[in-house]
Amino acid sequence: MILSNLHTHTIFSDGDNSPQEVIERAIELNFESIGFSEHAECGYDIGCSELGLNDQIEYFKKLDLLQNKYPQIKIYKGLELDSLNWKHEGTPDYTIGSVHNLLIDNKVYTIDWKIEYLKELITVCNGEKNFIIKYYEEIINFAKSCNYDIIGHLDLFTKFNEREQLFNINESWYLKTVKEVIKELNNLNKIIEINTGAIARGYRTSPYPDIPTIEILKELNSKIIISSDSHSVKNLNTYFNEIEVIIKKIGINKIYKFSNSEFIPYSI
Ligand SMILES: [Zn+2]
Ligand SMILES: [Zn+2]
Repeated sequence: MILSNLHTHTIFSDGDNSPQEVIERAIELNFESIGFSEHAECGYDIGCSELGLNDQIEYFKKLDLLQNKYPQIKIYKGLELDSLNWKHEGTPDYTIGSVHNLLIDNKVYTIDWKIEYLKELITVCNGEKNFIIKYYEEIINFAKSCNYDIIGHLDLFTKFNEREQLFNINESWYLKTVKEVIKELNNLNKIIEINTGAIARGYRTSPYPDIPTIEILKELNSKIIISSDSHSVKNLNTYFNEIEVIIKKIGINKIYKFSNSEFIPYSI
């Protein structure tokens, strides 16, 4: 059973609910812990709600107060850092590192906001293949330069792929590329997230990363965590039961959770 979620957003960034509402829902679901991972400032005005640098200490204090109020569940303080600018305040319990944007010739192109923007980015990169290579270069550079804990939504660029096929991620060159990326992330001791957020929000019917990539995670014995990247209490555990069945079928029977100040494996 998956009884935690470390990738959640509230009204402190772009989520719909207050931390208190999320905690109460987590208690209803019998979660043993809940982690908050608001978007930290990416340093560019891209029209997205982020937790400003000046508000981060207050946010952590608020979560400490809520921990006192709800001792029956363990509350963890996290941030989702963007590769463009991962400065932050205070000392979060854990951090998620995500590539949501690429900076090309001093212009920020978002990957997961609107399909039109992603298409523009692909054109700027001279095609899908070059874009994917650039994206994964950014993933690796970010993983090497920042000591975040969890890599968020590894193949985020596939968000719109079920509505309109932009990428063929079953081609051998792609699977070879992603395998090299995962090897590097394993060497850097990153935990790799299986993220059901796009299912929760109606974009996809499968998680990030896609099934062939999850098979590579199994083959390379990666450290895995499950989250729903929830932006609403409705999605706090979306697809958790289903994903557990899927990964077990692939042969994964150990995933990670955060416990006090470290990530520890447990059997599913
Ligand atoms: Zn994200
Ligand atoms: Zn997120």
